[in-house]
Amino acid sequence: MRIILLGPPGAGKGTQAARLAQGQKLAHISTGDMLRAEVSGGTELGKLAKNYMDRGDLVPDEVIIGMIQGRLKDGSGVILDGFPRTIAQAQALDKALTVAGTRVDRVVYFKVENEELVKRLSGRATCSGCQSPYNLSTAPPKKPGVCDRCGGKLAQRPDDQPDAVRRRLMVYEEQTAPVLDYYRKTGKVKEINAVGALDEVYGRLAAAVK
Ligand code: ADP
Ligand code: ZN
Repeated sequence: MRIILLGPPGAGKGTQAARLAQGQKLAHISTGDMLRAEVSGGTELGKLAKNYMDRGDLVPDEVIIGMIQGRLKDGSGVILDGFPRTIAQAQALDKALTVAGTRVDRVVYFKVENEELVKRLSGRATCSGCQSPYNLSTAPPKKPGVCDRCGGKLAQRPDDQPDAVRRRLMVYEEQTAPVLDYYRKTGKVKEINAVGALDEVYGRLAAAVK
């Protein structure tokens, strides 16, 4: 299976993708995680990407496509999370999969209202030790800034600052929403309600990819 998780920033794609990957024994490819690894590794690519990411802008298509191509070559099963985010990326993906003799099987669209997204993103914090997710307004840790599970320090992403959040939502409407229409024409899209408890949303996702 080659599955794409599509939806606005803050829709919970990353969390659910990780779970689905484990459940279905598929590779989880997150372009956001790949980019953050480049940034923290201090690579040239990371330095270039950081400027775009911190503002809430997309990293240029040719950079993203170059970065991900190697991982699509063998055509094996994957869950794509945060890619494709533009029509040009969707076309490049189709091309790469065709070369590998395969195709996209299913696109799951995570539906969440904007107001809820702003609330989630601006409160979002992650443990720098064990990666447990928190929300400082709706699901705070017992002790401020400290992970309940491992005692690690909680960190907020630079692009979860209010200005960058607004920008990411705007960029999503302008550049990524058209990708949903692109796939709707292929009949591969299943829409799920991404609001609810993590288990609930996972149940909907698992049903959508069956
Ligand atoms: P979110 O979905 O919460 O915005 P991600 O971790 O998927 O978070 O992405 C964080 C940032 O990384 C994006 O705002 C963008 O700058 C960059 N990025 C990730 N994936 C892509 C992509 N496919 N194309 C362009 N930029 C990307
Ligand atoms: Zn922790």
